[in-house]
Amino acid sequence: MHDFRYIRGRLHCGQVALEALVARFGTPLYVYSQTTLADHFQKLAGALAPLDHRICYALKANSNLAVLRTFAGLGAGFDLVSGGELERVLAGGGDPAKCVFAGVGKTEAEIALALRHGIYCFNVESEPELVRINRVAARLKKVAPVAVRVNPNVDAGTHHKITTGTYENKFGIAFETVEGVYARAAKLKNLRLRGLQMHIGSQLTEVTPFRQAVERVAPLAQRLAARHGFEFLSIGGGLGIVYESALASGAAAWWRTPAGRGILTPAGYAAALVPLLRPLGLKILVEPGRFLVGNAGILVTRVEYVKRTGHKNFVIVDAAMNDLIRPAFYDAYHEIVPVRRKPGATVPSDVVGPICESGDYFAKDRPLPKVGEGDCLALLSAGAYGSVMGSNYNSRPLPAEVLVDGARAALVRERQPVAAIWAGERLAPWQRRR
Ligand SMILES: *Cc1c(COP(=O)(O)O)cnc(C)c1O
Repeated sequence: MHDFRYIRGRLHCGQVALEALVARFGTPLYVYSQTTLADHFQKLAGALAPLDHRICYALKANSNLAVLRTFAGLGAGFDLVSGGELERVLAGGGDPAKCVFAGVGKTEAEIALALRHGIYCFNVESEPELVRINRVAARLKKVAPVAVRVNPNVDAGTHHKITTGTYENKFGIAFETVEGVYARAAKLKNLRLRGLQMHIGSQLTEVTPFRQAVERVAPLAQRLAARHGFEFLSIGGGLGIVYESALASGAAAWWRTPAGRGILTPAGYAAALVPLLRPLGLKILVEPGRFLVGNAGILVTRVEYVKRTGHKNFVIVDAAMNDLIRPAFYDAYHEIVPVRRKPGATVPSDVVGPICESGDYFAKDRPLPKVGEGDCLALLSAGAYGSVMGSNYNSRPLPAEVLVDGARAALVRERQPVAAIWAGERLAPWQRRR
């Protein structure tokens, strides 16, 4: 479910009117529903209950400390991709012993940090990385738990910038060579072979690629587990969400598109995969990011100008690609609705930000109700890969973020003060006046 709906013509998150939040915290404003975060986690956990499993939330999707605390409180582990993310998990109250560390470029310092905090496992993406982890572990007199990320060479059928499980991209180790890599890794004294990992891409809306990948990888996991005595298989993240008509489809079934396409529910995911995974007798890890947070967040923005050129109707808003880059980066679709419902006809509109780039748009030729200066719009399904990809381009401060739980709302990230943008900058000594 999601938690955003109209009550008497005004968009609410839980029982809180978005207009009230805008009055308190300004725009652009990210708003997250704690209810939805917990609901999605519990739906997935329920579907995977027949397995000995752990959900490791991929915090690169949304790493706000309040979001991390929500999942930590539900018993989640975390899938992290940098030393910074490990420090964030610790700051948010997460348990490092439930963390897996992914990514192709782990530095020595990051490896040492993760070893000192006793993470559950390194998901390793190359042989040189295995050698490096072994060396750092030896220096720290530790044994590093590792899993190799196998590339099953399955096309996830998603956008080319978010597909990861084919030989065309930089991730993982080719399926055919993985057994040799484990054999060599077994000879490295400061490594403990703990599992096998895969992740084929993001925003998958059908179960078939998941099933194909698991069918390929499960026998390999079984052989390797028997040979090296390891304990888990991670099947990665990638569960897609519905971006279109999320609001119209209602609170009960937001993942169902109106046309019935792209139906991927936690139950459907589990029904296809649990029968393949259960016989392995291994602990199963999943690493969802977008699925848990995507529809739990929106970005609220205010209309600054409406510019009619005779050719186009431009709705110029105060949020921009630096706040939410997905449309510019992935051609992503975000549903856009007015915060105060507008009756009457719609007009094809381009919703654009103020940044000096043609790519700075949120929608093109989108039928929208007639809006005017001062009206607020909500960009839905902005909880994943939204604020985390924010930048200060055009010296725009990062937006504020609010967490809502029922009738309660709290600021969980203050709007960045403008001077903080250049706080780390200084003049060269020869530029300073005496
Ligand atoms: C990005 C990523 C995830 C999460 O992907 P989602 O599509 O957000 O679920 C999980 N595992 C790994 C290794 C990743 O790189």
